[in-house]
Amino acid sequence: MRVLLVEDEPDLGAAIKRTLTQQKYLVDWVLDGNDAWAYLENQWTQYTLAIFDWMLPGISGLELCKKLRSRESPLPVLMLTAKDRMEDKVTGLDAGADDYLVKPFGMAELLARLRALQRRSPQFQPQELTVGNLTLDYGNNMVVSQNNTGKKQEICLTNKEFQLLEYFMKHPNQIVTTEQIRNQLWEVSAEPISNVVAAQMRLLRRKLTNNGCGNMIETLHGTGYRLNLTDESK
Ligand code: CA
Repeated sequence: MRVLLVEDEPDLGAAIKRTLTQQKYLVDWVLDGNDAWAYLENQWTQYTLAIFDWMLPGISGLELCKKLRSRESPLPVLMLTAKDRMEDKVTGLDAGADDYLVKPFGMAELLARLRALQRRSPQFQPQELTVGNLTLDYGNNMVVSQNNTGKKQEICLTNKEFQLLEYFMKHPNQIVTTEQIRNQLWEVSAEPISNVVAAQMRLLRRKLTNNGCGNMIETLHGTGYRLNLTDESK
């Protein structure tokens, strides 16, 4: 789940990013409304959720909301603000925000609001994803594989391994390039080093192989990778 966080207070932004990252969200954090719009204009479809502070340098959170809705983006937006007067809430919601959180707030409340937005969102995150003989368990950060005899094997994954395998499972039997993986699973500001992807691939593969899942992910040298599902397991 990728989140765009737009918050110009460095301490608060860092705290939110830290909290969300611990909860397996992938967070792109920007401090300026213009930067936020540049991200959104190109790739709002990549985001599951957006969090906009109301008062921002450049374009305000309110204007970002209006611009998104004028493009008919359904991206769920949570507004953050110190404004707590009723008329401000109405203005924010009228501009297209889905929910509203008044500063100061606790991180537990922020997470609860985000979960509520996800449940209402068309991009709602399911509890499980099954492709072939693999089932991703979102609640427990693990993948369950089932062999031909019906025997199940549970494999615990790190957050990044989980995101990586999820991406492959959403694109089975397709060639996925290193660049696609990097763009989808690493923050926009992260250093564009393809070695990062290769290193993570090695870790995921080793874990799959050690748990009897063989070499499902094929390396296509110079191109990328492919999760191969056999006909029987489709
Ligand atoms: Ca602000």
